[in-house]
Amino acid sequence: MQESHVVDTLVEELSGLPGIGKKTAQRLTFYIMKMELSKALSLSEAIKDVREKIMHCSRCYNFTEIDPCEICSDAKRDRSVICVVENPSDVNAIEKAGVYRGVYHVLGGALSPLDNIGPDELHLKELTSRLNDTISEVIIATNPTVEGESTATFLADLLSGKGMRVTRIARGLPAGSDLELADKVTLARSFEGRLNLK
Ligand code: ZN
Repeated sequence: MQESHVVDTLVEELSGLPGIGKKTAQRLTFYIMKMELSKALSLSEAIKDVREKIMHCSRCYNFTEIDPCEICSDAKRDRSVICVVENPSDVNAIEKAGVYRGVYHVLGGALSPLDNIGPDELHLKELTSRLNDTISEVIIATNPTVEGESTATFLADLLSGKGMRVTRIARGLPAGSDLELADKVTLARSFEGRLNLK
């Protein structure tokens, strides 16, 4: 095939996605070029919709179509317990495990000096502003990675002396992995076996 600017652009856009190298991006581009026009357009529409209609919940910073999100506005959830996670995908994983009935707070990542992610880059102030005497426990459920563990230590110090129980989900999750990759049973056990930090 002749060089084509539009083709190159799509290859470039796709190869910017996580886990997609140049080869895969080319393969996907060829696939998309052969797709029925209506299917290709609904794919592009879906990308546009997800970007335009999904926002961060102003309370917990999870992705949502409504603000506050469904979890924050669910009267059946226990609002006295806040589970702190790194990313919205972690909320999904915990919700799927079905063992937790409290609310969440999404930090938007973990502390990582090498990537210039310090406390100001995370939703930490927003977390402390949610804390009052109706909160009985904060469960730290950052990933069992170096960054996740140092974020947990930082949080434990930040939250100490604020009058609520501060816990960390138990080890048993494979070290260095992401919460979202843990199976339901492991995730459920790590919630049940959470440890007091402060
Ligand atoms: Zn929310």
